[in-house]
Amino acid sequence: MKAIILSQPGQFEHRQLDLNPSLNSGEVLLKVHRIGICGTDMHAFRGKQPFFSYPRILGHELGVEVIEIGNEVKNVSVGDRCSVEPYFNFGRDQAVKSGKTNCGENISVFGVHEDGGMREYIRMQARYLHPSPKLSYEQLALIEPLSIGCHAVNRSQMSKEDKVLVIGAGPIGLSTIQFSKIKEAKVAVMDINEERLEFCRENFDLAGAIQAKSDPLIEHIRNAFEGDLPTIVMDATGNPHSMKNTFDYVAFGGKIVFIGLFQGDFTFFDPLFHRKEITLMASRNSLGKDFKQIIGLMEQGLIDTGLWITHRIAFQDLPEQFESLLLPETKVIKAMVEL
Ligand SMILES: [Zn+2]
Repeated sequence: MKAIILSQPGQFEHRQLDLNPSLNSGEVLLKVHRIGICGTDMHAFRGKQPFFSYPRILGHELGVEVIEIGNEVKNVSVGDRCSVEPYFNFGRDQAVKSGKTNCGENISVFGVHEDGGMREYIRMQARYLHPSPKLSYEQLALIEPLSIGCHAVNRSQMSKEDKVLVIGAGPIGLSTIQFSKIKEAKVAVMDINEERLEFCRENFDLAGAIQAKSDPLIEHIRNAFEGDLPTIVMDATGNPHSMKNTFDYVAFGGKIVFIGLFQGDFTFFDPLFHRKEITLMASRNSLGKDFKQIIGLMEQGLIDTGLWITHRIAFQDLPEQFESLLLPETKVIKAMVEL
């Protein structure tokens, strides 16, 4: 079968791989139809992804078809279209036992820590599949990136009473906006990129789309919320300055959720943290129930998936075209590989 391997930073290669279709108990053989490209893939290509080794087959945002099932597979049948929950846990560590499969101690993310879906066929445990008879392969491949924002919103226990500031309007920030709107919260977005802000103004009913360089910024934030401060601040930047500033923006008694990750030490002023009695959370990956929630919302037509996919690439063209996706002028929100 055909595969595309990232052999070292900056270098994709076409490879022919053997297919061993003899399935173990609980396993399925899948045909890959769509692969979403994400920031993680771009970091890996640039050689900037932490805890990453080469060569590696990327691809963790997948729309797949079940073509064969092993013994003991109950949740899917041959012919099912599925999304893949790529957070594999082989042990039953403390977090996994309590249902936190998104942050197990020994988690292995398919397409990041182990070879993923940039190939014609994959074998995996059926329990990581989420089927939908109604959704297209493209929609199914979009569920994983959407689930990151969905999980962060669920973690914050947001309600329609909340005033939510989302910082960073890249794909993860956009998915956070999407699910905050589904919770009927009042939502404002903040970014330094004027085009991204314009995209948000055009596509979401927002309380504000705030230029992060505005001065005084806190007044612009208050203006979005009728003079109040946001009860929940969701940071999707991974930028330590932005993350630090969230302590100033959040309302007294409010919550901060760090979705973006910063590779280093992070400090804050404790008297402010205490004075406001802030709740600070990290959000990592997502859960099977987030996948199920999104499938339900998509099947009901409550998420406009047409908004997300800005670029489509044929599988064989990916090695040549990948670098162009990294350029800001390409204006990628989500690129889909088709095979
Ligand atoms: Zn991703």
